[in-house]
Amino acid sequence: MIPKTESLPRRAVILLSGGLDSTLAARMLVDQGVELHALHFTSPFCTCSRGGDASSAGCHSQAQIVAVEMGIPIKTIVKGQDYVDVIRKPSHGRGTGMNPCIDCRIFTFRKAREFMTSIGASFLVTGEVIGQRPMSQRADAIHFIEKNSGCNDIVLRPLSAHHFEPTLPEREGWVDREKLLGITGRSRKEQIALAEELGVIDYPCPAGGCLLADKTFAIKVRDLFDHSGDVTMADLNLLKVGRHFRLSDGRKVVVSQNQESNRRLETLCAAMQDRSPFPTVYYSQGCPGPSVAIFGTADEPLPMSILSKIYSRYTKPETAAPFLVRILSPGEPHDIQVPRDDDFTEVQDGMLCK
Ligand code: SF4
Repeated sequence: MIPKTESLPRRAVILLSGGLDSTLAARMLVDQGVELHALHFTSPFCTCSRGGDASSAGCHSQAQIVAVEMGIPIKTIVKGQDYVDVIRKPSHGRGTGMNPCIDCRIFTFRKAREFMTSIGASFLVTGEVIGQRPMSQRADAIHFIEKNSGCNDIVLRPLSAHHFEPTLPEREGWVDREKLLGITGRSRKEQIALAEELGVIDYPCPAGGCLLADKTFAIKVRDLFDHSGDVTMADLNLLKVGRHFRLSDGRKVVVSQNQESNRRLETLCAAMQDRSPFPTVYYSQGCPGPSVAIFGTADEPLPMSILSKIYSRYTKPETAAPFLVRILSPGEPHDIQVPRDDDFTEVQDGMLCK
């Protein structure tokens, strides 16, 4: 933990995602002798090409690698419940999916400014390139985000600096504006050429994405918010696993798709047993089949008709009924016999993201 200290002009905080742009921005500032401290945000919504899991470990580990290679300290902030509130009720609209990009950037910049102050740094650095992302990287959006996060004049964007008025660190001579660049737009050609020039070799996620901007994923997020007043990051994380169904009686059913998602579904649901409604988790005991979570309350009867339809549909076709299914949680695991029912219509009708 770095104690709060008086601001040092050539100490700055870089928002380091682990992607190409922020890596280049860091390299440029390190080469100018600026003392950088990296700040990395994680969430379950990162889709970087290194295959992040629930905690977006792919880009997280890449940010760590970049920081270590450049010899800069790194702090990680996990986007938590306060970020769920941003997704649920953004003040400044959404993009094509459930992505609240303007509010998301304001959230991020506020956290970064707090960190900057706490370590006695004087400005922020980002890898943003003007015009690269339609919602949050237009010039007007960039200025709006800066103003609303209290970061006016202190955000330096080395890759696009020549398209902005000189910022505080440039005017004060803490960085050399002449050595900054004027890149714009979505093409990454200039960044890739710059990476070669600066010796940045390992950049596996040049354009990491965000699940919130995915229209299909957005259907599940919207459904969750429509049916629950008390959404947590764990609920949102669960949306990444398996097929999701909203039944006509309002119950939610999740059916895993393979062995890996069986385990993930079971693990995520095991951590939700104090929730209301809580998930009851079923596991195919006698033959290859899915794990299933059905959200309900303690006084509801065993949803045998739903289980029959699901296990008839998703268990290996040659399997003879009744199916042996284990109730994993809540409570002590025990086995039940599930009869066959090939009429899947009722469940199919509730499928989210068909
Ligand atoms: S794409 Fe996702 S991570 Fe990026 S600003 Fe938008 S909501 Fe935030």
